[in-house]
Amino acid sequence: MKDYSAAVWSDVEVESSKGNFKGIVLPRSETADNKHVVLKLHNGYNVGLNVNTITSIKILGKKEAHYKIPEKKFPTDPGKSNVKLLGTGGTIASRLDYRTGAVIPAFSPGELYGSVPELADICNLETEKLYGVFSENMGPEQWTGIAKKIGEEIEKGIDGIVIGHGTDTMHHTSAILSFMVQDPPVPIVMVGSQRSSDRPSSDAAINLINATKTAANSDFAEVMVCMFGPTSDQYGLLHRGTRVRKMHSSYRSTFRTIGDIPLAIVEKDRFIPLRSDYKKRRKDNNVKIIPSFDDRVSIVYYYPNMKPDIIESLIDNGYKGIVIAGTGLGHVNKPLYPSLKKACDMGIHIYMSVQTLWGYVQMYVYDTGRDIMNLGVIPAANMLPEVAYVKLAWTLGQTQDREEVKKIMLTPIAGEITEREPHNGYLIYQGGIPEVEEFISKYKK
Ligand code: ASP
Repeated sequence: MKDYSAAVWSDVEVESSKGNFKGIVLPRSETADNKHVVLKLHNGYNVGLNVNTITSIKILGKKEAHYKIPEKKFPTDPGKSNVKLLGTGGTIASRLDYRTGAVIPAFSPGELYGSVPELADICNLETEKLYGVFSENMGPEQWTGIAKKIGEEIEKGIDGIVIGHGTDTMHHTSAILSFMVQDPPVPIVMVGSQRSSDRPSSDAAINLINATKTAANSDFAEVMVCMFGPTSDQYGLLHRGTRVRKMHSSYRSTFRTIGDIPLAIVEKDRFIPLRSDYKKRRKDNNVKIIPSFDDRVSIVYYYPNMKPDIIESLIDNGYKGIVIAGTGLGHVNKPLYPSLKKACDMGIHIYMSVQTLWGYVQMYVYDTGRDIMNLGVIPAANMLPEVAYVKLAWTLGQTQDREEVKKIMLTPIAGEITEREPHNGYLIYQGGIPEVEEFISKYKK
């Protein structure tokens, strides 16, 4: 780099044996080696180049990123709702400024207002950073912490809550919060961003605006996820916390309601409810927080040729609950049967869900399903595997009684089990396909 008078933040054109690249030289991360230069290409992607492959570097200019958004005082308006934004981390917290690409390590109301000024038109916003982790690091400690915080805010009379979260495990958190926070009087809206805000296609600002509108002004008093709807930024979708799942590793329209239809479309100036069976906003400050969790629960994703030692190791390690994601209608191979029986006889609670995600466990259709039920395995209807996992851990945090656990598991609390799948649930809202656009244009008329 020195040979070519290039430095961090130089805008450069690099010729290398791997091809030519134009982009900005990024600072090296703590753990990176010193044999590579990382460029942020003009299309937003980063590329790492081995220094030995570089044959020339031409300096085009310098484009330094600013780490700090100028603080602006968030205006308050007594006529607007009061919303609390709780930060837990993820891309949305680490790179919020969608115009300058600045990196914000935390978010104060002033920083948020500086980067997304539209928020001030929506509500009076207070922010609090609870955690600063990428979402694979979320767990019972954070989940119970968020649930208790929600309880405190509701008791103080907040009009709506937004939770900024990494997208990867947002559906685990939305599910567990749906059980831990029961009958909230106000909207609790989880939001994240799939593309970091230094990329022109970032969804950070639009998702945050839609989520804040929902928390401030909508009538949906449930735990929800508000994220990009179709592949364009036409509208956001509001998903019920127990039926939503991240379904694509990079699309912005990654969150989909599974086995059901979403609660609503969130447009610039209105909410379009897609169903009427949601819990409505109330004026009281009552909410029931049940922050229980027994972390000796596991999900076993069945694959052909799975060996019983997987189940045996869970038994030996003192696991109290297992959710199986079985094949088809809810099956596993015969060699697992003796271990599953042993586990059930020892009092381990085993529930069956399906890896197809869509559809119900139906263990009466084939003899094998009946055999598995006879071992003591209980079908979990159409609960998504991750939802069954957090619900079982939440339930076992309250009781170990087999019948009581079964009753709680199989009684829908927050839409996690539905009576039937709507006929249009499977095809519609899968993200920008022409049928979806057509459906929506008809629906809106
Ligand atoms: N890996 C990040 C996370 O889940 C991705 C994101 O924030 O969207 O925390």
